[in-house]
Amino acid sequence: MTAEILDGKAIAATERERIAVEVAELKAQGITPGLAAVLVGDDPASHIYVGMKHRDCQAVGMESRVIELPATVSQRELLDHVAALNTDDSIDGIIVQLPLPEGLDAYSVQEELEPTKDVDALHPYTAGRLAGGRPTFYSATPYGVIRILEHAGIETAGRNVVIVGRSNLVGRPLATMLSLKGRDATVTLAHSRTPDLAGVCRGADILIAAVGVPHLIGADMVKPGAVVIDVGTNRIDDNRLVGDVDFDAVVEVAGAITPVPGGVGPMTRTMLLQNTLEAARARRGLPRRHQP
Ligand code: NAP
Repeated sequence: MTAEILDGKAIAATERERIAVEVAELKAQGITPGLAAVLVGDDPASHIYVGMKHRDCQAVGMESRVIELPATVSQRELLDHVAALNTDDSIDGIIVQLPLPEGLDAYSVQEELEPTKDVDALHPYTAGRLAGGRPTFYSATPYGVIRILEHAGIETAGRNVVIVGRSNLVGRPLATMLSLKGRDATVTLAHSRTPDLAGVCRGADILIAAVGVPHLIGADMVKPGAVVIDVGTNRIDDNRLVGDVDFDAVVEVAGAITPVPGGVGPMTRTMLLQNTLEAARARRGLPRRHQP
């Protein structure tokens, strides 16, 4: 068997076209959704990511502002910049690019964010709303995974989902999202201390890897016909980008699989735009079009 390839790049392109249309509709009402990114220090990867998000916004007609701060900025100054964006009416969404340079505390910066502009879904309020079953924003990567499953018509209700990786950014919120009423998956959240990881993974109808270990998931860990979603993005020796799944082996066993690159990555960037669009609506009392 050769798995169906779940083309995240193509799904993202479709979603972006729709987002651009919805942005144009808002602009016709005098509302231009705006995203601000706070970028601290000189980390090259962070500069690349923020540059991509900036161009993504422009491509769908949103405003984008990048606030660049030196690595020497104090915690207080950083919090003041966030506070200024909180009260800036032209800004609907705020992201603080992680990781922050040594000495700066990311958690307290996230706590400073105005929850109605928390489009990265990292504020404790946002996490609490999700845990309580009344989400405001979904964090972009888990949201991207959900949208890939929806686009592919993959049912989650009654299925066994195994997520490998329990980070606050990906694995944990995704486990909550998939187990909410309406999605109704039976979710196992595995991690580095999980005994017999291979056996646990083989129980999955839908296996999601969000680990950060190249090729951790081999063909022997996948039930024949299972759906495999690879969130991992890892650079290996020749600077090639690979996932957490041994794609060449698993593609022969799985029923459907996301590639790396071209799977979850493009969807993550797109769902940040989606969140900013919804924030722009919600902040003006307009109904949400797409409930998380
Ligand atoms: P993270 O915070 O480092 O968390 C990694 C998780 O994997 C932890 O829960 C860890 O377990 C678990 N783990 C590590 N080694 C393991 C092993 N050998 N067996 C089982 N579990 C293991 O990472 P993250 O931020 O969630 O990111 C995970 C991956 O996704 C990375 O490759 C990252 O680059 C990628 N990512 C991609 C996107 C995208 O848009 N495509 C977005 C975000 C992240 P413990 O909790 O026990 O330590």
